[in-house]
Amino acid sequence: MAGFHVLPIDPALSETVRNTLKSPQYGHPAHVELAAGYGPCRACLKQFRTGEEERILFTYNPFEGLNEYPSPGPVFIHAQTCPDYSQPETFPEELRSLPLTLEAYGDNRWIIARERPSAHEIEASVERLLNTSGVRYIHIRNTEAGCYIARIERGAGAEESSC
Ligand SMILES: [Zn+2]
Repeated sequence: MAGFHVLPIDPALSETVRNTLKSPQYGHPAHVELAAGYGPCRACLKQFRTGEEERILFTYNPFEGLNEYPSPGPVFIHAQTCPDYSQPETFPEELRSLPLTLEAYGDNRWIIARERPSAHEIEASVERLLNTSGVRYIHIRNTEAGCYIARIERGAGAEESSC
């Protein structure tokens, strides 16, 4: 297995949201609230402790730098600075139990394949998608809410299987 990298949103972007309470990409006001749902936080990739932790809702385009055609949507991060996701070569444990859709994109953000793995099938699903011809990256989305959670790319040194 060639391995993979799980990428949360850029830590610098998260800090900008906390400092300005606006969407850095769109300028829309961000919203701070006591967590009413599990999230997860798109910075540390952990679930919110509902009723205990504060979170910020803002508008985010997960295709920035990947494609000109944006898809702005709502995402949450912890209102207080939280640790960066520290094990990018491991699938985040607190995401595993969520209803997840993996969308595998090729050039021009065309969806080449989509899978909804159960908790114990995730790594196999990621590997299969990254080995699919033409796939450049995977977006993790929540199957119930449809919201963007994080991106997965091939691990360092891995070759794309086609060109
Ligand atoms: Zn967090």
